[in-house]
Order: sequence, then C-alpha cells, then structure tokens
Amino acid sequence: MKKNLLLTPGPTQIPPDICAALGRPIIHHRTPQFQQYLKDAVEGLKYVFQTKSDVLIMASSGTGGMEAAVANLLSPGDKAIVVEGGKFGERWTELCKAYGAIPVVVKVPWGKGVEPKQIKEAMAANPGVKAVLITLVETSTGVTNDVRAIADVVKNTEAVLVVDAISGLGVVDCQMDNWGVDVVVSASHKGFMCPPGLAFIAINAKAMKMAEACKSPRYYFDLRKAKKVMEKETDTPFTPAIGIVIALNESIKHIKEQGLEKVFAHFARLAKATRAAAVALGLKLYPDDSCMSNALTTICVPEGVDGNKIMKVMRDTYGISVAGGQGEELKGKVIRIAHMGCIDEYDIITGISCLEKVLKELGYKFTLGSGVAAAQSVFNS
Ligand SMILES: *Cc1c(COP(=O)(O)O)cnc(C)c1O
Repeated sequence: MKKNLLLTPGPTQIPPDICAALGRPIIHHRTPQFQQYLKDAVEGLKYVFQTKSDVLIMASSGTGGMEAAVANLLSPGDKAIVVEGGKFGERWTELCKAYGAIPVVVKVPWGKGVEPKQIKEAMAANPGVKAVLITLVETSTGVTNDVRAIADVVKNTEAVLVVDAISGLGVVDCQMDNWGVDVVVSASHKGFMCPPGLAFIAINAKAMKMAEACKSPRYYFDLRKAKKVMEKETDTPFTPAIGIVIALNESIKHIKEQGLEKVFAHFARLAKATRAAAVALGLKLYPDDSCMSNALTTICVPEGVDGNKIMKVMRDTYGISVAGGQGEELKGKVIRIAHMGCIDEYDIITGISCLEKVLKELGYKFTLGSGVAAAQSVFNS
C-alpha cells in the first residue's frame, strides 16, 4: 500500500486532525453553531492575512477568488497592469480579457521576480490605470515577488494592488495592512492544508469603494453582496462549503499556535535544506538566487533525464508526489518540490531520498545519499 505523500504545491498534505474534522457529519449552515465556525474562520484568516479589513470566503478553487477580484474591480475598458513571470501571472491577463478589461502586460523572464521599477514605469506610461495584479509566489517557477516594494510604488496612487497569494499565504510573509496591499486572494488547499474548495479574498475600503462603482457583471462572486450578508447575518450569499470551513478552523488553530513568525521560519528552513540537497546532487536551481521562494523549490533536471518521468516514477512507484514543469518553457525540464502546509523535516528527507532513488534508476550519476546528507546537515545546524 502506498501512503501518497504530497510534496506538491497544492493540494498539499492534510494533517490527521483536519482529516478527522472533515469526517464529521454535516451540519446546517444557518445555525448558531455554523455561524460560530464562520466567524472564527474569518477572524483567523485576518490573522494570517495580517489585516483588519474584510476577508470573504467563497466556495470555489483559488481561481474563483482571482475572478472575484477582477469582476469586482475592473469595468470593461479599464486598464490593469499585470505581471507575467509564469503561468499564474498569465492567468491575471486571461481574466482581464474575459471581463473586457485591458491588460497592460509587464513581462518578466521566467525564474525572475518583477522589479518595482517596471511597475512604476508601466504606471507612468498608462495614466488612469485601475489596478496592478501580481503574484506573491509564482508557483510555476518557484519565485517570490517583492510585494512590499511593489506596494510602495502603488499605495499612494488611485490604483489598487491585488496580490494572488494563493500558494504563498501562511508560508511566506505578506503583510497586507502594513505594506499597503489592497486585495489579497488565497485558497484552502495550499498553506492552509485543507482540501481544495474555498477561496479567500481580503479587500480593504479603497478596493471596496471601487467594487461599488464597478460596472462588470457579477452574480456568484459579487463581493458587495458577500460583505453585506457577512456583516448582517454572519452568512455567505450561497451555501458555503460547510465541511471545509469547519476544517479551516483546525488549520487556523495550528497556524496560530505556532505564530506566523515561526511558521515562516519553518518553511525557510525546509527550503534551505531542499536547495542544499539539490545542489549536493549536482543539480541547478531554476529561479534566480535573489527571488527564490521558500514555498517551493524548482530544480532543473539533469541533461538527458525527463523531468516528467522522474515525477511519474516517484508518484506511481513510490507514492511520493512532486510537481513537474508547466508550459512550453518548463515541461519535462524541472521538478517542483513544495514545502508548504503541514510538511516537516522528515517529509523533505523522504522526498529527497526518493528523488535520489529515481535519479539513480534513470541513469544519472552521483553519490547516493549526498542529497539527503546535505539536507540533514541543514536540519542539524
Ligand atoms: C494554485 C494556484 C492558483 C489557483 O489554482 P486553483 O487551481 O484555481 O486553485 C493560483 N495562483 C497560484 C500562484 C497558485 O499557486
């Protein structure tokens, strides 16, 4: 029997107590009992989002949260600056087009972070731009963007800064209020170690005002309505994903018990060990040193070895899931090992030892155990 360890950047491993919470019989959502869960979940999310603004919970995957941001902020014909440095940045562009907004694309080479200066220039060249849409952790490449520096550029303008923090929240620091970010989107199945099914959107007063005036059509993802029923009745406009909201309460307990600072330090340590292991195996890391993410490690596969094959053998033969490369650029060329959610030192050690086994099977030459040893020395230091 295979245990199926998920070292993927979403969905992530679900800890036993959250699994148990998911197994509870369903309760009705229009009850004081569920309202308490919802209230606690929102309070907990505010802690993780580091905000005092509204955080709204929707039943959808993460992309639903991104769509909600675009549908509520951008009217047809509005311009928005989008940063494209990977698959998820491209999603912002596609969403803008779907709503008739005009994406002003800032291209960033894959593996690099966006320079705040590029945003500044794009804003200067496009007066009246309504929003800047960026990605905290570009999961397709393994880059963390400098949201704080970008917020410095956007915060005293008419535009709102919207951050896709779906794979980054609860893993790397993102201080919505302190840094001056207007909208942050996340989801249940990455740092929050729950199943997919919930999107979260934190929205401040400046962005809510824009949502009130926005002319785009919206129904399911109408944030005005979501805010109203949350305030009035501690409810969501439609049936919530009840079981996952209850599970989220457990997840938030874990995060709060540790405290954000310790949580970030934990993932930084896992990232450091994973990188050390890759380097010890003679493999290159894909992202630039300056912007390498602590949420996942993207490793270039050696010449002559197919990355998708590594991924498939690890998963299908040994029950350990890592992610392959996405898009023309990276398909078969990298593997991505996530360290987000409830992953610990020994999950990383297990993943690396499995990677070694499969690399050996596929004919790559290196000293067996060297990756594990490098990770161990990081963990023992
Ligand atoms: C996972 C992810 C998403 C959302 O994906 P869904 O499949 O819709 O949940 C969006 N952005 C980033 C950066 C992600 O990692």
